[in-house]
Amino acid sequence: MRHTYHLGVLAGDGIGPEIVPAAVEVADAAIVATGADPIDWVPLPLGRLAIDEFGTPLPDVTLKTLAGLDGWLLGPHDSATYPEPHRSQLNPSGTIRKHFDLFANIRPAKAFPGAPAIVEHTDLVIVRENTQGFYADRNTYTGSGEFMPTPDVAIAHAIITRPAVERIAHAAFQLATRRRNKVTIVHKANVLRLTTGLFRDVCHEIAGQYHQVAVDDYHIDAMTVHLLRRAHEFDVIVTENMFGDILSDLTAGIAGSPGIAPAINTSADHGMAQAVHGSAPDIAGQDIANPAAMILSAAMLLDWLAARRGDPRPRRAAELVETAVADTIRAGTTTPDLGGTAGTRAFTGAVIQAIRARC
Ligand code: ATP
Repeated sequence: MRHTYHLGVLAGDGIGPEIVPAAVEVADAAIVATGADPIDWVPLPLGRLAIDEFGTPLPDVTLKTLAGLDGWLLGPHDSATYPEPHRSQLNPSGTIRKHFDLFANIRPAKAFPGAPAIVEHTDLVIVRENTQGFYADRNTYTGSGEFMPTPDVAIAHAIITRPAVERIAHAAFQLATRRRNKVTIVHKANVLRLTTGLFRDVCHEIAGQYHQVAVDDYHIDAMTVHLLRRAHEFDVIVTENMFGDILSDLTAGIAGSPGIAPAINTSADHGMAQAVHGSAPDIAGQDIANPAAMILSAAMLLDWLAARRGDPRPRRAAELVETAVADTIRAGTTTPDLGGTAGTRAFTGAVIQAIRARC
């Protein structure tokens, strides 16, 4: 059966217009090489250019179009530099995650032979709950859980609910069954007893349904040290929203660079590929950004499509992309963040060559 997938492309800000097209090019090369049907890419406005054209960084047309697509690639946004009122509002990525209830943020950190890692052989996945926790600008149905009753008093609340923990815990344990059968729960239940205590306890309850999976848990502060010393011993790590955001930057660095840390945000119905890193304005427009994280995020989206549609062809393309990125790095073609001299475009070209060399 032939099937054309329709995938959105939101380039975003900073290095987004460099790395997102690179991901599209590489995905196309893998699709061609594996004989799958061509992808219909649908460019959509988002970010600074959308403010100029539509008066908002996330136009209605973008949200409405995304709803009808099979998935999309989201570039980074530099919302800290947007003019008011946009700077003070929930950023485009947070808005999209909330709008589509993309509750599972899956963030692998994998060391590549040929790239300098702080902990060699790191191969873990952070499963970050994406809708609640301590990020008060996205843990309410409407409005923000962060507010200032007086100019000198600022208050934020955290929310943890059983159903949200249950679904993220199932995502983590199911993932572990396809990997090395180990889940680590990260919390701070010695201090935040009720909120992160509920997170920890519900995860342990769900663990009872996955007898083949070993489970342990750590406080977030201790976990940072365990990761620095022995990241290679961890498999799947499940945690709340803010802890997951911070830990995944740490694990990206431990594995070698933010430039090689991909991610996908999913619900049952929607998948959004989005690199862990931000818009890196300090290196934008110089052809030195590492596109690997965005390329690997696109591969995760293809893999998610394969599982969701029961279609093996996007999975073959995803595997080919991952192998080609590893081949390229192992062969010594790396961007400056990994100690090399290749530019964004040269690295992308080398990955495409590696795809062709494998077929
Ligand atoms: P944001 O608030 O959007 O997360 P940030 O500046 O806090 O932005 P990043 O954009 O992730 O965080 O950048 C952190 C550092 O990592 C910067 O020095 C940046 O240049 C570097 N960096 C991020 N992504 C890449 C990449 N793809 N390739 C090379 N370096 C990167």
